[in-house]
Amino acid sequence: MTESRVAIIGGGPGGYEAALVGAQLGAKVTVVEETGPGGSCVLTDCVPSKTLIATSSMMAALDGTADLGIRFDGGPGGRVEPAGQAGPGGPGARADAAQLNGRIRSLAQAQSADVATRLAAEGVEVIAGRGRLAGPGLVAVGDQLIHADTVLLATGAAPRVLPDAVPDGDRIVTCRELYGLGELPRELIVVGSGVTGAEFASAYQALGCQVTLVSSRDHVLPHEDADAAMLVEEVFRRRGMAVLSRSRAVWARRAGAGVEVGLEDGRIVRGSHCLLAVGMVPATAGIGLEEAGVDIDARRFITVDRVSRTTAPGVYAAGDCTGVLMLASVAAMQGRIAMWHALGEAVQPLRLRHVAATIFTDPQIATVGVCQADVDSGAVNARVVKLPLATNARAKMDGFKDGFVKLFTRPSSGIVLGGVIVAPRASELILGVSLAVEQQLTADQIAHTFAVYPSLSGSITEAARQLMQPSE
Ligand SMILES: Cc1cc2nc3c(=O)[nH]c(=O)nc-3n(C[C@H](O)[C@H](O)[C@H](O)COP(=O)(O)OP(=O)(O)OC[C@H]3O[C@@H](n4cnc5c(N)ncnc54)[C@H](O)[C@@H]3O)c2cc1C
Repeated sequence: MTESRVAIIGGGPGGYEAALVGAQLGAKVTVVEETGPGGSCVLTDCVPSKTLIATSSMMAALDGTADLGIRFDGGPGGRVEPAGQAGPGGPGARADAAQLNGRIRSLAQAQSADVATRLAAEGVEVIAGRGRLAGPGLVAVGDQLIHADTVLLATGAAPRVLPDAVPDGDRIVTCRELYGLGELPRELIVVGSGVTGAEFASAYQALGCQVTLVSSRDHVLPHEDADAAMLVEEVFRRRGMAVLSRSRAVWARRAGAGVEVGLEDGRIVRGSHCLLAVGMVPATAGIGLEEAGVDIDARRFITVDRVSRTTAPGVYAAGDCTGVLMLASVAAMQGRIAMWHALGEAVQPLRLRHVAATIFTDPQIATVGVCQADVDSGAVNARVVKLPLATNARAKMDGFKDGFVKLFTRPSSGIVLGGVIVAPRASELILGVSLAVEQQLTADQIAHTFAVYPSLSGSITEAARQLMQPSE
């Protein structure tokens, strides 16, 4: 049998995870990538932002250490200084912008190098450059042509900018320029209160910046569990963030040493820096889609089915360029599914109902399965229990009270349909609920599972106990 040839445009999780599967299945795989192995996920988006948040979470934890009986020499325990105010050796904790941004950039490069090493070890060829479809079974990179039986498009997406708020990489930035700044913003205006806006607002506030969050909606994180979003917004405000609800930003410009952001109602917000977090647009222009017969929707996302097929024979697409669900885990799964399907393996079509996701604010919001909105609208019939973490012994010991565990179960069978956890490390805690949803466990089964005492996961088993079905 002749070796199957696979060409992949884009080396983010959608592309490189597919490449690994293709190589494992014996195909000759070529990845064309213009930024670097790992793609935007590793080099500019997910990995850098979570590295920033590793530092900001530590700062947030330090901020509460005085209550835990910790004193630092020379000042009050763990007081976090406003950005740029405390000098080296001064009281309290201070984030060092050069060190922090340098760490973020080098960690991203190291992760990219690890991806490159792994791809090379599996025999995947990586070509640096910009690829495009050049005819049936053909990908072009400059003058070079790659012949392929299967092509996978995994070109990702880029931050959306407003026509009258153009990033200058210095005072007006998107998430991709943040780590080049030589200083921490003193007064950061974050435009957009979706996941990206909320995460950065939370992180920079914990780093000591004065943050103004401009939100066009009634409350932050409008697409998330409303109880969770409301709690996070309350925490933001309590810690001193200015959250401007129902306020749409229409322009941003430099003004002296800082920036001004104009709102639709005529108000002007002033700060030292402005971060635009107003969504992502797919990177689907200029790669030969129309000529190849690859359909895109009105927002230019590539149309795919649940096994990642586009409308053109032999052409698959995965990840953010499809707009299915903009998460690294989903991009990777779409890419793997494309390879399994193209290379003749048994494959289960993409199922999104069981995707676990986390918003890395402080506290974090982790979710899986059905959501409260579905239950409230009557689309899903479920019993719901919400248990505040304030009464959990471990939460008291760790010195926090903002959080809860929420579980949804099917009334007839008690099967766990979903859950929401708001807690400092909700991203780690959600796995127990994910397992229950995926394996169709019942509340009774979780209730009979041992949790460590004292632990936050004890609140998951406690919530399940409250949902136990009385025996007939
Ligand atoms: C600030 C931020 C934080 C995030 N945090 C998380 C998180 O915590 N968890 C999570 O799951 N997701 C997170 N995401 C989303 C996650 O980064 C994306 O879902 C993921 O990167 C999608 O992977 P991808 O492979 O589709 O695309 P990308 O990672 O964007 O990679 C696509 C690559 O293709 C390259 N490319 C594009 N066009 C061409 C071309 N013509 N030729 C060659 N190369 C090309 C690009 O340069 C890019 O490197 C975050 C996103 C942002 C913006």
